[in-house]
Amino acid sequence: MVFYPPPWVPKLPFDPPDSITIGEFMRSEIYGRRPIDKSRNPFTCGLTGKTHTTTEAFERSDLIAKALGKIMGWEPNVDSPWDKVIGVFSFNTIDYLSVLHSVHRLSGIATPANVAYSDSELEHQLKSSGAKALFTCLPVLETARKAAKAAGIPEDKIFIMDLPYHAKKPAHLKTVDDLVELGRSLPELEPLRWSKGQGARQVAFLCYSSGTSGLPKAVMISHRNVIANTMQYCIYEDVARRKVGVETQVELGLLPFSHIYGLVVVAHSGTWRGDEVIVLPKFDLPEYLQAIEKFKINHLLVVPPIVVRMLSSQDVCKKYDLSSVRLLFTGAAPLGKETVEEMHRIYPTWTIGQGYGMTESATVVCSTSEHDVHQGTSGSLVPGTRAKIVDADGKEITDYDTPGELLVQSPSVTLGYLNNEKATSEAFFWDEDGRWLRTGDEVIVTKSALGYEHLTIVDRLKELIKVKGHQVAPAELEAHLLAHPAVDDVAVIAVHDDRDGEVPKAFVVTPPSMASRKDEDIAAEIIKHVQDHKAKYKWLKGGIEFIDAVPKSPSGKILRRLLRDREREARRAK
Ligand code: AMP
Repeated sequence: MVFYPPPWVPKLPFDPPDSITIGEFMRSEIYGRRPIDKSRNPFTCGLTGKTHTTTEAFERSDLIAKALGKIMGWEPNVDSPWDKVIGVFSFNTIDYLSVLHSVHRLSGIATPANVAYSDSELEHQLKSSGAKALFTCLPVLETARKAAKAAGIPEDKIFIMDLPYHAKKPAHLKTVDDLVELGRSLPELEPLRWSKGQGARQVAFLCYSSGTSGLPKAVMISHRNVIANTMQYCIYEDVARRKVGVETQVELGLLPFSHIYGLVVVAHSGTWRGDEVIVLPKFDLPEYLQAIEKFKINHLLVVPPIVVRMLSSQDVCKKYDLSSVRLLFTGAAPLGKETVEEMHRIYPTWTIGQGYGMTESATVVCSTSEHDVHQGTSGSLVPGTRAKIVDADGKEITDYDTPGELLVQSPSVTLGYLNNEKATSEAFFWDEDGRWLRTGDEVIVTKSALGYEHLTIVDRLKELIKVKGHQVAPAELEAHLLAHPAVDDVAVIAVHDDRDGEVPKAFVVTPPSMASRKDEDIAAEIIKHVQDHKAKYKWLKGGIEFIDAVPKSPSGKILRRLLRDREREARRAK
């Protein structure tokens, strides 16, 4: 059975445009059912109050494009997009979107990287994407410089995004403000001459995801993918907004714009529908609460661990006036029903919802609607989306409440993985019904009190671990651990963590040469080996367990489910 959005979900009013850039879409009055509201500033810094009007934000993007074109020798209609890739390794700033759209104005590609990355992780992303320049910010400059050097990006191609932190900027590096000033002295760029359908074929972003298995891979996200999901999500949300008599909102811009959730749902959808986004570079509880109070934020977009943190820090939360909030929305990981109930008890007027999506679907597949909240579920399908649920043999499941793998069809389903045919054909496939994305998530469909179909993510069939909403690929940690002399074989799985949702745990087989050493000493060394080279959220917070052999199938595949079941059993027994 194919599932569709419920009948109350409005249809997309037109096909998502396929021949323009995202930046053109964002400013185009013809496409904007809600063309960007010129009277509201799209991005305001939640720490300093610094802001740009909509017109200034667009102008800055154009000026950065001119300067970038001059410095890099890039022109809008010359050379392949693959020769014009920029990396962006920065906390959220009010210029983040202007910078991303500036490279699109040159018909290039942006690859946003997680700011928690170590230099070797960033180096991998810069090299594999072919980035030729890097935008970064002062707090992570040293990491950025090391990675850029290793990836062959010279110092004069490193640009600094403005952030409200006081650190000394090396005099020879240009800031985004310098680029804006340089752009003012340069002639206009020639208009883009895109062919029909180019926006559906051309990559706008390379965001990294490990998909259903293996190492992190560059997901090719087209201009049309982002335009489509921006429309899908906003049009879906419109219904709820009409019901509660709200048009525009003040939103929280805390989720990293380097991750698909922050990039599409917060930065693009938020501003396309005319909302104001209050940008916070990173999570700090008092700063977050202060920003809500000061800017009267209505719409909190967060990940579940932030909700958990609010619950455990009520003494701090109570000091702030949070009465402006009407909607708390989470995504990127499951939000437990008990957590929602507890939040409702403390904040009875808030609507609490969640959305489900993934990098490969350029975000939202389904979402809670305020007028049909079915708590614990991830809501109904957004317009233009179709879904199927299949069992382990690929047979369609037609019954409600019966778990199976979710397959998705949507104009936002991305183009595949860069230079990885095998992973692409495993995750994206065609049948007589069209092109489907295999999500690797186990879901059930249930009906809400109003009788509409809602999806609940009940488990993850794929290897992926989600720590505070960030992806951790077991294969990446396993490859790293195998390089340590005390590791003969290893399997990494997700274990539950009250604070972070999930954390990685390693099951390690040591070689005979380690027999005389104490387990604690070996474990400490292995843990340090990860801490020295990997982003903090990938550290082995779930610990290490020594085992005699990693369970494997006859073909050598790690039987993670056995280890996961064992862990769950042990947790239940506690
Ligand atoms: P990412 O590509 O980093 O956004 O990760 C996507 C994955 O996060 C999905 O395939 C799910 O496994 C998980 N995920 C996202 N949203 C939810 C949700 N609402 N509930 C449970 N898991 C989720």
